[in-house]
Amino acid sequence: MTVVLLISSGARAESTRRIALTYDDAPRGDSAMSGDDRAALLISGLEAAGVEQAAIFVVTSRIDSPARLARIQSYAEAGHVIANHTHTHPWLRHTTAEAYLAEIDTAEMILQVFENRRPWFRYPYLNEAPDIERRDAVRAGLSERGLLNGYVTVDTYDWFLENLYQTAIREDDPVCMAGLRELYTGMLVAAANFYDEAARTYLGEAPAQVMLLHENDIAALFVTDLVAALEADGWEIISADEAYADPIAGVLPDTRFLGMGRVAALTSLAGKPGPEFTYLAVDEDAITAAFNDQVAGGCD
Ligand SMILES: [Zn+2]
Repeated sequence: MTVVLLISSGARAESTRRIALTYDDAPRGDSAMSGDDRAALLISGLEAAGVEQAAIFVVTSRIDSPARLARIQSYAEAGHVIANHTHTHPWLRHTTAEAYLAEIDTAEMILQVFENRRPWFRYPYLNEAPDIERRDAVRAGLSERGLLNGYVTVDTYDWFLENLYQTAIREDDPVCMAGLRELYTGMLVAAANFYDEAARTYLGEAPAQVMLLHENDIAALFVTDLVAALEADGWEIISADEAYADPIAGVLPDTRFLGMGRVAALTSLAGKPGPEFTYLAVDEDAITAAFNDQVAGGCD
């Protein structure tokens, strides 16, 4: 009996693939969908998919009306956690560490109203190390403030696919929603698998993964499909709290290669060659070709 239990728990530990969902840039403006409708659909989709806690990274200058404040509140009330993505979404490479930290402080002050705020900061554009001086100055500033780097481990180009979709809608081009659903879920599952494989190969084991997503229309339209596709591939959706309790949350990789997330940084330091960091999910030409093939012009 004991042996059977050990084998089964060992097998489970080996096969467990855990991932948290995180949504950046909220509250975004109206697009094909109104901001309010989008947030409501994303929240109901997360609930239907059984995702108890996603993280919402907020750009606080966008909380410029009671309605937008209410949108962030609605995420919080649904159990999701609220965190800092700066006040105006600057590139670190275009500013000073001091000005950047002031942005973070402004956002932190505005986010105080949310009881389930988390002390996490996500770098806009994942632009963390334009040079070593600014990288280290902002890291020190975060540490002084008790803020954790709200890193990602699964970098995705969901924003690029969203742009293709919004352009088609604006131009009144027919869109095949079934094809878009398949492309969106397929590229995100491929991204998760890519970083899982990289971690297992180069780090020896896979950490809890953190998927980078944005508060956009395709996120809201297809969240239940995304969760179903991840689960069908053996992934377990975990809370952002659980993901950021992973040991890699305490490791600040000593590299400037940080723009594809923490697993990319750690595996590159462990010897994974840079050229291998290209695959469908981050290849704009490949995504465009797939969109033209599967989505543009409507369903066949
Ligand atoms: Zn952002």
